[in-house]
Amino acid sequence: NTSLHELDPEIAAAVDAELSRQQSTLEMIASENFAPLAVMEAQGSVLTNKYAEGYPGRRYYGGCEHVDVAEQIAIDRVKELFGAEYANVQPHSGASANQAALFALAQPGDTILGLDLAHGGHLTHGMRLNFSGKQFNVVAYHVDPETGLVDMAELEKLAKEHRPKVIIAGWSAYPRELDFAEFRRIADETGAYLWVDMAHFAGLVAAGLHANPVPYADVVTSTTHKTLGGPRGGIILAKQDFAKKLNSSVFPGFQGGPLEHVIAAKAVSFKVAASEDFKERQRRTVEGARILAQRLTAADAREAGVNVLSGGTDVHLILVDLRASELDGQQAEDRLHEVGITVNRNAVPNDPRPPMVTSGLRIGTPALATRGFTAEDFTEVADVIAEALKPSYDAQALQARVKALAEKHPLYPGLNK
Ligand code: PLP
Repeated sequence: NTSLHELDPEIAAAVDAELSRQQSTLEMIASENFAPLAVMEAQGSVLTNKYAEGYPGRRYYGGCEHVDVAEQIAIDRVKELFGAEYANVQPHSGASANQAALFALAQPGDTILGLDLAHGGHLTHGMRLNFSGKQFNVVAYHVDPETGLVDMAELEKLAKEHRPKVIIAGWSAYPRELDFAEFRRIADETGAYLWVDMAHFAGLVAAGLHANPVPYADVVTSTTHKTLGGPRGGIILAKQDFAKKLNSSVFPGFQGGPLEHVIAAKAVSFKVAASEDFKERQRRTVEGARILAQRLTAADAREAGVNVLSGGTDVHLILVDLRASELDGQQAEDRLHEVGITVNRNAVPNDPRPPMVTSGLRIGTPALATRGFTAEDFTEVADVIAEALKPSYDAQALQARVKALAEKHPLYPGLNK
């Protein structure tokens, strides 16, 4: 019964320091969020002790009667939330969900068509060093350099030319909604499966603020920790026809024992995601991103060489284009870090700088919306960012404004010892 602080003060100190970092800075990494205490309570529960290979009612271990209840609730809730016929809540992460999904739909050596990593796609959509790029024949589609929008004409042309087994719709860094009906049409015309990876925008879908890919796609994967706001993990949704293949691809295909404590935490987050409060939070998330886009396309920002890719956003993030700025992506990330705002540098399409430097930033609003930020607060954050990206800036004044915002919206106040 020894506490973490008593048993392992070194790790306890790192956890405490991370709590204080999260509390005192403004988290604007688009893929991050703050899980509710109840989610973390489920994740830190005794369910971590249980082996449960298999699925509810069909396990390879005894004593699964209670984890069966939790996992079945998670499955039922997520099916209801997204209107899916089938759900698998066992993938340990988004990448694990994607691996299981891809191997259920295609064989190594088959052709897959995904959005280029440098244009906003994810590693698991065919990047050279990822399993998807190593084991499949990858063809990549792109965004139009003028509009910043996915070039659907190129996608159709590539699909007709290469006849991929799977077309992947989804992104890690793209500020607009995809046209799922058009993806479906192209998949049908070329005999491909359509897999949508909604990891980033799943929370918006749950809140009804973004088109739901489930009716269009054969398979939909997601993470549970980005806009969805739950524990770190993955899920797979699909039409019932794919149930058997997907189940056996997750277990025993790629995973052993499921993380039942995380699955219970997923169930809690799906309950939260069905609430009115969650919808209201997602509305503030999208509104905050729009405010950022407006502020960073204003005349003084443009004068400093700051542009917003595609001119705005439909979702929870914006992509800042710094090709005309004297700052590169790394310098801009460092500047914002200096004033207390955490973002990540990000390549812009056809980026002249190397991937470790880049000429862009990805800035997201989910974590601050969870913290309670309103339109007024997002306007203030956007102004701080615009000031910080100017050639000369007053770091101390901006730090004070960030501190005031962090103090206005305390995070996890009960957790401080
Ligand atoms: N899919 C997309 C679109 C993502 O953006 C990410 C994470 O950034 C993932 C999958 C992978 O999720 P994880 O980091 O949980 O493996």
